[in-house]
Amino acid sequence: MKFGTKVIHAGQHEDPSTGAIMTPVYQTSTYKQKSPGDFKGYEYSRTGNPTRNALENNLASLENGNYGLCFASGMAAIDAVIKTLKPGDEVIATNDLYGGTYRLFTQVFASFGIKFHFISMRDSHEIENLVNINTKMIWIETPTNPKLNIIDIKKSAEISKKNNLMLVVDNTFATPYLQRPLDMGADIVVHSLTKYMSGHSDVVMGAIICKDKSLSEKLYSIQNSCGAIPGPQDSFLVLRGIKTLHIRMQRHCENAEKIANFLKDQSKIQDVYWPGFTNHMNHEIAKKQMDRFGGMVSFTLKGNRLKDAVKIVSSMSYFTLAESLGGVESLCSHPSTMTHAAIPKTEREKTGIIDSLIRLSVGIEDVEDLITDLDRSIKKI
Ligand code: PLP
Repeated sequence: MKFGTKVIHAGQHEDPSTGAIMTPVYQTSTYKQKSPGDFKGYEYSRTGNPTRNALENNLASLENGNYGLCFASGMAAIDAVIKTLKPGDEVIATNDLYGGTYRLFTQVFASFGIKFHFISMRDSHEIENLVNINTKMIWIETPTNPKLNIIDIKKSAEISKKNNLMLVVDNTFATPYLQRPLDMGADIVVHSLTKYMSGHSDVVMGAIICKDKSLSEKLYSIQNSCGAIPGPQDSFLVLRGIKTLHIRMQRHCENAEKIANFLKDQSKIQDVYWPGFTNHMNHEIAKKQMDRFGGMVSFTLKGNRLKDAVKIVSSMSYFTLAESLGGVESLCSHPSTMTHAAIPKTEREKTGIIDSLIRLSVGIEDVEDLITDLDRSIKKI
């Protein structure tokens, strides 16, 4: 099955009792047993729910994995992955990563005795230099949030295999439409389904996808024991959103390319970050591991003044100032005071999250309107 067919059909079957072509919302917490232990595959909705399972199977197929598991949020999925570790274990992670992931690692799991190292991963030797007997996991986000750096997944997988580590890739920004990390040697893919996968800014959800059976059993046990599962109504909404993922992503990519090129020519703008530029630091890796360059664009302003960035993000009409990304509508955000405020200023600035950095989640509106909106706001500073 090709991708555009999988988004619509994988993991989904007409309802056996009515023939309904859309997966029903099995809004039930429990299931009848004929006699104790004699039930039709489902016993309790934390343990399993048919609507959620249809989504989990669909996701496994899109990522070319064998097992999918859904969680109440992207953070709950990340939390479950780290719970496969034990005190004393070490994780090497990208330093330009979602602020909430950084907060979970440093403010929750560090106090349970797990040690995190944050590095740029621009050079794979950087990773190898940090590997020691306690290292168990490499954690990658690519493209990174918000600077849109690209980390080489295949190279990281080689290091990870050589040292018997687990390679985890947060594929939220790219989605499996643009990049399939399991095919490149990753062990686990995580998602915030809240973003492009559901695509309509109406659900918060996360997922883990993997190929290995025993790893999936360990993760399933965490999902069932800790209980951070999504409800069937939200699972239905994500399944419905995924049906247009390929079409939405095409338009996100086209619009982002036009906006990146517009921003590049503006005299008040210092740098524009978009992996499709041939002078982007990791453009060659992006070309190798992504089918296109995604719908996110970040930029900084000449003079790096906080008040200028605040003026721009507060004065746009179609780019709504809001956390999150990946919906059909365009959003803008100011990472240093919003998504990445949890990262100390000194750490943040090391990765280029400076006061004038603005992140755009380019939606699928008519791009001419989006460019007019940006032009109008930039002229105000
Ligand atoms: N991973 C990335 C790359 C994100 O951008 C986010 C949220 O913005 C998350 C994970 C967390 O996902 P959620 O907000 O669904 O918990």
